[in-house]
Amino acid sequence: MLGKKLHVKKNDTVTVIAGKDRAKSGKVISILPKKDGVIVEGINMVKRHTKPRGQEAGGIVEKEAPVHISNVMLFCGKCQKPVRTRVTVLEDGKKARCCVKCGESFDK
Ligand SMILES: [Zn+2]
Repeated sequence: MLGKKLHVKKNDTVTVIAGKDRAKSGKVISILPKKDGVIVEGINMVKRHTKPRGQEAGGIVEKEAPVHISNVMLFCGKCQKPVRTRVTVLEDGKKARCCVKCGESFDK
């Protein structure tokens, strides 16, 4: 895939490092490359008012709002904390993101 390189991918576990959900972790469920944003499960919940539509009743639903990519860090399961990553080239030539602290690969 061409375009901007984002340091997180779908299904990554990330920790929020800024904003109201600082220090919370969750799984990335969606990436919004154009907005430099990520949707993280259970993070940055906002209340949305919905109008009744057909069989569905209107009301207030809580939904994840995007978090700016610069406000999340990959969570390293080995280090048990958010870490910076570096890209290393594996033996088979593939690139993988690794934890700078313990070397754990995030792209297995
Ligand atoms: Zn680590």
